[in-house]
Amino acid sequence: MTNDEMRSANEIATEETMRCVVTGATGAMGQELRTVAQERGIGTAAVSRTADGATRPDELSELLDTQPDALIDFTVPEASVEYVTACAESGTPVVIGTTGFDDEQQATIREAAERTAVLKAANFSRGIQTLLSLVRESVSSLPAYDIELTETHHNRKRDAPSGTANMLLGAIDAATQSETRDRVYGREGIDPRSEDEIGVHVRRAGNIRGEHELLFAGNDEILTLTHRAESRRVFAAGALDGAEWLSGKEAGWYEFTEVLTNE
Ligand code: NAD
Repeated sequence: MTNDEMRSANEIATEETMRCVVTGATGAMGQELRTVAQERGIGTAAVSRTADGATRPDELSELLDTQPDALIDFTVPEASVEYVTACAESGTPVVIGTTGFDDEQQATIREAAERTAVLKAANFSRGIQTLLSLVRESVSSLPAYDIELTETHHNRKRDAPSGTANMLLGAIDAATQSETRDRVYGREGIDPRSEDEIGVHVRRAGNIRGEHELLFAGNDEILTLTHRAESRRVFAAGALDGAEWLSGKEAGWYEFTEVLTNE
């Protein structure tokens, strides 16, 4: 960290009531987070791999030594795992919004939760939490209906299906009394639907913030549940709510629903 960066981190420490480290600070979510944090009077220290005046990831440990209230991460899985491991070492509470982790990366994050407070959510919007409840209720009430899930995101998104889509599929599994239904990703050629499958469809286009639609179809009626994020602000606000809630919590694994039910 340069002297200027160290000074700005220290200034934040004395002037702000809460202080967060934001990784992926130059990304779409990182920028939104910093804007919403500033509006709320939350101090942020930026960490980015790009040379734009932010702290470089290899200097993160010095920043964590200043004991920020939380680190908020919206990056890519490989970087996120490194940041979370650094937080476990320094005991810094960490909010993870990054999606697309493989099983090994998930296990590393779970281990980190034994040493620091970890709040991880594939979606920090309140509407999606409500959608999850509605999905569970619909699956229970409409057991024989066909289910198809469609998600749409901007053309830069790396992982597919989205973390939120996987979360919705998990909610369907949990609410289904029988065994897990097969997922069919897209359709092509002669490929008729089987009774128990869930069709999953992914679209990538433009700058779409995030849309998820669940279709429940019986033979004579259709129910659709749709969530549409109109701006990234909704995710940034939720992640900052999470950071405020998580700050000072003991080591452990925390869910976004706990933030919403305990605030
Ligand atoms: P983005 O591409 O705009 O930003 C990614 C950031 O990560 C950039 O700052 C980039 O410099 C940084 N980065 C990329 N590779 C890196 C590396 N190897 N090391 C260090 N930094 C690296 O993406 P985005 O739209 O801001 O989304 C970021 C993540 O957040 C994605 O996984 C996305 O799915 C997820 N997301 C989650 C939510 C939620 O509510 N949980 C909402 C929106 C996006």
